[in-house]
Amino acid sequence: MSIDIESIRKDFPILEQTVHGKPLAYFDNAATTQKPTQVIDAISEVYTTYNSNIHRGVHHLSNVCTQAYEDARVKVQKFINAGNSHEVIFTRGTTEAINLLATSFGESFLKKGDEIIVSQLEHHSNIVPWQLLEKSKGIVIKVIPINENGELILEEYDKLLSEKTKLVAVAHISNALGTINPIKTIIDKAHALSVPVMIDGAQAVQHVAVDVQALDCDFYVFSGHKLYGPTGIGALFGKEEWLNKMEPYHGGGEMIKTVSFSGTTFNELPFKFEAGTPDYSGAIGLGAAIDYVQNIGLDVIAAYEHELLEYATEQLKQVPNIKFYGTAKEKASVISFMVNNIHPFDMGTLLDKMGLAVRTGHHCAQPLMEHYQIPGTVRASFAIYNTKEEIDRLVEGIKRVSLLFA
Ligand code: PMP
Repeated sequence: MSIDIESIRKDFPILEQTVHGKPLAYFDNAATTQKPTQVIDAISEVYTTYNSNIHRGVHHLSNVCTQAYEDARVKVQKFINAGNSHEVIFTRGTTEAINLLATSFGESFLKKGDEIIVSQLEHHSNIVPWQLLEKSKGIVIKVIPINENGELILEEYDKLLSEKTKLVAVAHISNALGTINPIKTIIDKAHALSVPVMIDGAQAVQHVAVDVQALDCDFYVFSGHKLYGPTGIGALFGKEEWLNKMEPYHGGGEMIKTVSFSGTTFNELPFKFEAGTPDYSGAIGLGAAIDYVQNIGLDVIAAYEHELLEYATEQLKQVPNIKFYGTAKEKASVISFMVNNIHPFDMGTLLDKMGLAVRTGHHCAQPLMEHYQIPGTVRASFAIYNTKEEIDRLVEGIKRVSLLFA
């Protein structure tokens, strides 16, 4: 495989530091990834050379900035292979994109008794917005259960789908377990009943190539910061036939055509859903992040991360009394586990003293933790800059902590 990890690591200055006197090994990539200088520089360039509020400007800087922002939208479009750039709405991230959808789709299409299907392994941001609709509109949430490996039970999904179902909203990849869901099958089954589908791609776009046209999903959402891009920016892809029929989300500047106290008309896509001054530097940074991963190649990234996942899984199996959560056949580079009954918080705190950054807790997936009847897990998630040497240190660290508690 043609991948030069040492040169990739040089793109991430943050990785060069020591933590508690030990070289930092960062395994919290499912929470957020680090940023390459290419992204940091792109954002810095906005503010040092062409910062100006976008759209409506007649002057040079505004035109340059508007162009860069719209170029970033086209980069997102091509990245997920959307048919049109106006089907890409910039949002603050996955959470805002799902809230946008719940509010606008909910306002336009949902009424009391309508059903939405999610799954047991969703992140809270793909549960709570629908629960708000449950409260305000009386919709009903149905949940696809999982098996012990952390895979969706599709026969149960079949049973949940009915003429009452108005939307299916599921994660592409689970942040807590790493399970890659069979989203094409999920989409096809829903479409057989003319039910639209939203895919939460927060954990997917950084690991696998996504083609929203081939998937034929109606909505796809993701965050920039998990894709080596900046925080505070993400995207909602929606098929234009849906977006055109949906009520706006936020009201304000830019999302209108005309405003009058006798009535206001709304702007066309994508602006109808982008009220106010958007995070244009964030969008431009996200464009730079997309360039970055595409230069390496998502297939190359996926293959390397898979190698890390397999290596780490094999090495971790040597740790006495380790229990893995999430052993799906199709998995992204996320490993969730517990060792004996050592509380994940204690494990995480002691690993940190060795310079090893992992995430501990419920991973914003409490219904999933409820399923396994555990308070949380320790989660190590790998990105393009992680190495097998770092994984060796992690395994050593976990062994040391478990001896301490023995
Ligand atoms: N969905 C999934 C699967 C996630 O992993 C996350 C982030 N942990 C989110 C949604 C929410 O993303 P954000 O916090 O960037 O809005």
